Amino acid sequence: MAVDEKVIQEIVRQILAAKGLQSAPAEPKKEAPQASDEFPIIPVGVSARHVHLSRKDMDTLFGPGSELTPIKPLMGGQYAAKEQVTIIGPSLRSIERVRVLGPLRKQSQVEISATDSFVLKVKPPVRPSGDLKGSAGITIVGPKGVVKLEEGCIIANRHIHMSPEDAKRFGVKDGDYVNTLAEGERRTMLYGVQIRVSPEYTLEMHIDTDDANAIGFKDKTEVTMFKR
Ligand SMILES: [Zn+2]
Repeated sequence: MAVDEKVIQEIVRQILAAKGLQSAPAEPKKEAPQASDEFPIIPVGVSARHVHLSRKDMDTLFGPGSELTPIKPLMGGQYAAKEQVTIIGPSLRSIERVRVLGPLRKQSQVEISATDSFVLKVKPPVRPSGDLKGSAGITIVGPKGVVKLEEGCIIANRHIHMSPEDAKRFGVKDGDYVNTLAEGERRTMLYGVQIRVSPEYTLEMHIDTDDANAIGFKDKTEVTMFKR
Protein backbone atom coordinates (compact mmCIF):
# COMPACT_ATOMS: atom_id res chain seq x y z
CA MET A 1 0.00 0.00 0.00
CA ALA A 2 1.43 3.37 -0.94
CA VAL A 3 1.48 5.77 1.99
CA ASP A 4 0.33 9.24 1.20
CA GLU A 5 3.08 11.86 1.51
CA LYS A 6 0.73 14.11 3.49
CA VAL A 7 0.06 11.30 5.98
CA ILE A 8 3.82 10.86 6.54
CA GLN A 9 4.27 14.61 7.05
CA GLU A 10 1.40 14.64 9.58
CA ILE A 11 2.89 11.69 11.50
CA VAL A 12 6.30 13.41 11.61
CA ARG A 13 4.65 16.62 12.78
CA GLN A 14 2.79 14.81 15.57
CA ILE A 15 5.92 12.95 16.75
CA LEU A 16 7.90 16.20 16.86
CA ALA A 17 5.03 17.98 18.61
CA ALA A 18 4.89 15.20 21.21
CA LYS A 19 8.58 15.75 21.88
CA GLY A 20 8.04 19.48 22.15
CA LEU A 21 9.89 20.11 18.91
CA GLN A 22 8.83 21.82 15.76
CA SER A 23 9.46 20.43 12.33
CA ALA A 24 11.53 22.62 10.09
CA PRO A 25 9.42 24.57 7.66
CA ALA A 26 9.22 22.81 4.31
CA GLU A 27 11.62 24.20 1.71
CA PRO A 28 9.67 26.17 -0.83
CA LYS A 29 9.65 24.22 -4.07
CA LYS A 30 11.29 26.23 -6.81
CA GLU A 31 9.41 25.55 -10.00
CA ALA A 32 11.23 25.90 -13.30
CA PRO A 33 9.58 28.75 -15.20
CA GLN A 34 7.15 27.82 -17.94
CA ALA A 35 8.68 27.73 -21.42
CA SER A 36 7.87 30.97 -23.18
CA ASP A 37 9.51 33.69 -25.24
CA GLU A 38 10.59 35.13 -21.87
CA PHE A 39 12.19 31.82 -20.81
CA PRO A 40 12.83 29.95 -24.07
CA ILE A 41 13.77 26.28 -24.15
CA ILE A 42 16.99 25.75 -26.14
CA PRO A 43 18.21 22.39 -27.50
CA VAL A 44 21.86 21.63 -26.67
CA GLY A 45 24.62 20.33 -28.95
CA VAL A 46 28.07 19.25 -27.77
CA SER A 47 31.17 20.38 -29.67
CA ALA A 48 33.98 17.85 -29.38
CA ARG A 49 37.55 19.11 -29.77
CA HIS A 50 38.22 20.18 -33.35
CA VAL A 51 40.45 22.19 -35.66
CA HIS A 52 39.84 24.85 -38.31
CA LEU A 53 42.65 25.31 -40.86
CA SER A 54 43.93 28.13 -43.03
CA ARG A 55 44.78 27.47 -46.70
CA LYS A 56 48.49 27.72 -45.88
CA ASP A 57 48.33 25.27 -42.96
CA MET A 58 46.13 22.88 -44.98
CA ASP A 59 48.88 22.85 -47.64
CA THR A 60 51.53 22.06 -45.03
CA LEU A 61 49.52 19.37 -43.21
CA PHE A 62 47.82 17.61 -46.13
CA GLY A 63 49.89 18.66 -49.16
CA PRO A 64 49.84 21.68 -51.51
CA GLY A 65 46.40 22.30 -53.02
CA SER A 66 44.72 19.57 -50.94
CA GLU A 67 41.02 19.96 -50.19
CA LEU A 68 38.86 18.94 -47.23
CA THR A 69 36.40 16.08 -47.73
CA PRO A 70 33.00 16.96 -46.22
CA ILE A 71 31.34 14.04 -44.40
CA LYS A 72 28.70 15.74 -42.25
CA PRO A 73 27.03 19.14 -42.71
CA LEU A 74 26.95 21.40 -39.64
CA MET A 75 25.15 24.63 -38.90
CA GLY A 76 26.00 27.87 -40.71
CA GLY A 77 27.52 26.29 -43.83
CA GLN A 78 30.22 24.46 -41.87
CA TYR A 79 30.92 20.75 -42.13
CA ALA A 80 32.89 17.99 -40.43
CA ALA A 81 35.64 16.79 -42.76
CA LYS A 82 37.07 13.32 -43.16
CA GLU A 83 40.52 14.78 -42.43
CA GLN A 84 41.95 14.42 -38.95
CA VAL A 85 45.11 15.71 -37.26
CA THR A 86 47.14 15.16 -34.11
CA ILE A 87 47.68 18.03 -31.67
CA ILE A 88 50.70 18.28 -29.40
CA GLY A 89 51.45 20.64 -26.52
CA PRO A 90 54.58 21.41 -24.50
CA SER A 91 54.03 18.22 -22.42
CA LEU A 92 54.86 16.34 -25.67
CA ARG A 93 51.76 14.29 -25.04
CA SER A 94 49.45 14.23 -28.00
CA ILE A 95 45.77 13.95 -28.75
CA GLU A 96 45.16 12.00 -31.95
CA ARG A 97 42.31 11.92 -34.44
CA VAL A 98 41.16 15.52 -33.92
CA ARG A 99 38.48 16.32 -36.49
CA VAL A 100 39.02 19.14 -38.99
CA LEU A 101 35.97 21.32 -39.68
CA GLY A 102 35.50 23.04 -43.02
CA PRO A 103 35.49 25.25 -44.89
CA LEU A 104 39.03 26.65 -44.62
CA ARG A 105 39.37 29.87 -42.64
CA LYS A 106 41.65 32.91 -42.62
CA GLN A 107 43.45 31.66 -39.51
CA SER A 108 43.87 28.18 -38.07
CA GLN A 109 42.10 27.54 -34.79
CA VAL A 110 42.25 24.64 -32.33
CA GLU A 111 39.28 24.26 -29.96
CA ILE A 112 39.86 21.97 -26.97
CA SER A 113 38.36 21.41 -23.52
CA ALA A 114 39.99 22.40 -20.23
CA THR A 115 40.54 18.67 -19.60
CA ASP A 116 42.47 18.43 -22.88
CA SER A 117 44.51 21.47 -21.87
CA PHE A 118 45.77 19.64 -18.76
CA VAL A 119 46.89 16.69 -20.88
CA LEU A 120 48.68 18.94 -23.40
CA LYS A 121 49.91 21.46 -20.79
CA VAL A 122 48.66 24.43 -22.77
CA LYS A 123 46.77 27.34 -21.25
CA PRO A 124 44.11 28.38 -23.76
CA PRO A 125 41.78 31.26 -22.85
CA VAL A 126 37.98 30.88 -23.02
CA ARG A 127 37.04 32.79 -26.16
CA PRO A 128 34.39 33.15 -28.84
CA SER A 129 35.39 31.32 -32.03
CA GLY A 130 37.63 33.55 -34.20
CA ASP A 131 38.85 35.73 -31.31
CA LEU A 132 42.42 34.44 -31.30
CA LYS A 133 44.65 37.40 -30.46
CA GLY A 134 46.99 36.38 -27.63
CA SER A 135 45.50 32.87 -27.40
CA ALA A 136 47.66 29.79 -26.73
CA GLY A 137 50.20 28.26 -29.09
CA ILE A 138 49.95 24.60 -30.13
CA THR A 139 51.47 22.19 -32.65
CA ILE A 140 49.39 20.39 -35.29
CA VAL A 141 50.64 17.27 -37.06
CA GLY A 142 49.14 16.08 -40.35
CA PRO A 143 50.06 13.28 -42.76
CA LYS A 144 52.30 15.58 -44.83
CA GLY A 145 53.76 17.99 -42.31
CA VAL A 146 53.77 19.87 -39.04
CA VAL A 147 52.46 23.36 -38.19
CA LYS A 148 53.50 25.20 -35.05
CA LEU A 149 50.84 27.80 -34.24
CA GLU A 150 52.07 30.74 -32.15
CA GLU A 151 48.43 31.43 -31.27
CA GLY A 152 45.06 29.89 -32.16
CA CYS A 153 44.30 27.45 -29.34
CA ILE A 154 41.17 28.33 -27.32
CA ILE A 155 38.49 26.82 -25.13
CA ALA A 156 35.32 27.84 -26.99
CA ASN A 157 32.90 29.90 -24.91
CA ARG A 158 29.35 28.68 -24.27
CA HIS A 159 27.10 30.11 -26.94
CA ILE A 160 23.63 29.93 -28.45
CA HIS A 161 23.10 30.11 -32.21
CA MET A 162 19.80 31.56 -33.37
CA SER A 163 18.09 33.19 -36.33
CA PRO A 164 17.24 36.94 -36.34
CA GLU A 165 13.57 35.93 -35.92
CA ASP A 166 14.34 33.95 -32.75
CA ALA A 167 16.50 36.83 -31.42
CA LYS A 168 13.61 39.26 -31.94
CA ARG A 169 11.13 36.88 -30.32
CA PHE A 170 13.37 36.34 -27.27
CA GLY A 171 14.39 40.02 -26.98
CA VAL A 172 18.14 39.46 -27.39
CA LYS A 173 20.73 40.54 -29.96
CA ASP A 174 24.00 39.26 -31.37
CA GLY A 175 26.78 39.47 -28.76
CA ASP A 176 24.43 39.57 -25.74
CA TYR A 177 25.17 37.29 -22.82
CA VAL A 178 22.54 35.16 -21.08
CA ASN A 179 22.43 32.35 -18.51
CA THR A 180 20.94 28.91 -19.05
CA LEU A 181 19.61 26.34 -16.60
CA ALA A 182 20.12 22.64 -17.29
CA GLU A 183 17.62 20.52 -15.36
CA GLY A 184 18.07 16.87 -14.46
CA GLU A 185 20.31 14.76 -12.28
CA ARG A 186 23.14 17.30 -12.35
CA ARG A 187 21.02 20.48 -12.37
CA THR A 188 23.41 23.28 -13.30
CA MET A 189 23.24 26.97 -14.08
CA LEU A 190 25.53 27.89 -16.97
CA TYR A 191 26.56 31.54 -16.89
CA GLY A 192 28.13 33.77 -19.53
CA VAL A 193 26.46 32.24 -22.59
CA GLN A 194 27.02 34.34 -25.71
CA ILE A 195 24.20 34.91 -28.21
CA ARG A 196 25.17 34.51 -31.89
CA VAL A 197 22.66 35.62 -34.48
CA SER A 198 22.72 34.81 -38.19
CA PRO A 199 20.09 33.95 -40.82
CA GLU A 200 22.10 30.74 -41.36
CA TYR A 201 21.70 29.59 -37.77
CA THR A 202 19.08 27.35 -36.22
CA LEU A 203 18.35 27.49 -32.51
CA GLU A 204 20.98 25.52 -30.58
CA MET A 205 23.26 26.01 -27.59
CA HIS A 206 26.82 24.74 -28.03
CA ILE A 207 28.88 23.54 -25.08
CA ASP A 208 32.14 21.64 -24.89
CA THR A 209 32.61 18.13 -23.52
CA ASP A 210 33.54 19.38 -20.03
CA ASP A 211 30.28 21.30 -19.71
CA ALA A 212 28.41 18.34 -21.22
CA ASN A 213 29.74 16.02 -18.51
CA ALA A 214 29.12 18.63 -15.81
CA ILE A 215 25.41 18.91 -16.66
CA GLY A 216 24.96 15.16 -17.27
CA PHE A 217 24.27 15.74 -20.98
CA LYS A 218 22.14 13.14 -22.69
CA ASP A 219 20.78 13.12 -26.20
CA LYS A 220 18.06 15.75 -26.53
CA THR A 221 19.16 17.71 -23.45
CA GLU A 222 17.51 21.13 -23.35
CA VAL A 223 18.14 24.21 -21.22
CA THR A 224 16.03 27.18 -20.18
CA MET A 225 17.40 30.58 -21.17
CA PHE A 226 17.41 33.52 -18.75
CA LYS A 227 18.17 37.03 -19.91
CA ARG A 228 20.50 38.90 -17.60
ZN1 LIG B 1 28.56 26.82 -32.18
